[in-house]
Amino acid sequence: MSRELKKRIESELAETERLLLDHADKSAPVELDQQSVGRVSRIDAIQVQAMAQAVVKRREARLGRLRAALARIENGEYGYCLECGETIATGRLEVDPTFTHCVRCAGKMGG
Ligand SMILES: [Zn+2]
Repeated sequence: MSRELKKRIESELAETERLLLDHADKSAPVELDQQSVGRVSRIDAIQVQAMAQAVVKRREARLGRLRAALARIENGEYGYCLECGETIATGRLEVDPTFTHCVRCAGKMGG
């Protein structure tokens, strides 16, 4: 297992945590003032909020995968396919260090 990958996971984990905290600071619910905001603007604000929530969900999911990858490094399971136990190709882990399946099993699962 390359140290480089662990470093990448750790720095992406820190960055993702930072982005989530940063967002939590700014994500006070949008005030929807009936008087000053028209119907279309309200819909815009709701859509913006929904998109922001989707981003947060994606980041939280990513954070979970990054933490799981670090846990696998700690217990020596990192780099092995969860399905068949084969080594995951390094090139594949360089694309995304949180991959948990070899290319064959990932293909079978459709992702
Ligand atoms: Zn496999």
